[in-house]
Amino acid sequence: MGVGRVLFTADQIARRVAELAAEIRRNGPDGPLTVIGILHGAAVFVNDLLKHLGGETSAEFIEASSYGAGTVSSGRVTLKGCGRVDLAGRDVLIVDDIADTGRTLAAVRQAVGAMGPRSVRTCVLLDKPSRRQIGVAIDYRGFQVPDAFIVGYGLDYAGRCRDLPHIARLDEPTPSPRERSNS
Ligand code: 5GP
Ligand code: MG
Repeated sequence: MGVGRVLFTADQIARRVAELAAEIRRNGPDGPLTVIGILHGAAVFVNDLLKHLGGETSAEFIEASSYGAGTVSSGRVTLKGCGRVDLAGRDVLIVDDIADTGRTLAAVRQAVGAMGPRSVRTCVLLDKPSRRQIGVAIDYRGFQVPDAFIVGYGLDYAGRCRDLPHIARLDEPTPSPRERSNS
């Protein structure tokens, strides 16, 4: 399985990340913002986003993993690390690399919402709307992508390709959900 067509170059990503940060700040809050990054896929995106968000932005990371059942893309989402962060009264921005079925984002949104934050917004670098199974509000999205397996800029395939500076699609065939690292 090789890396296929480049969808977004490093320059395109850098420009879009800066635009997203400006959009996030334009819509408020001006002050302290708590970013919750979802490991591991969102780590690169969060780090770049932070450089542009400015203000008093802090970042925490939680781990999310989902268990596939047969060919079903994902079932239960398990979260790790939520207990460490106190989000009561905070303005929170949940950041993930990609929204696929929407289950991860929905689970994190629910967990964060239960911690009494002042506001919760969501941001994904990539959105694959054709695969959505759960309705979840996405307040900020970088790019829309087709129904293909995406790698690079933090997104991996079986631990590989996270280090690519650009975003590409894997060559066909698309890996089954069981093969996805889903992190
Ligand atoms: P969802 O819960 O929306 O189905 O899936 C979200 C998670 O699955 C993402 O955080 C990401 O870790 C993983 N994922 C979904 N689609 C892709 C993809 O095309 N490429 C990679 N590398 N990971 C993906
Ligand atoms: Mg992920």
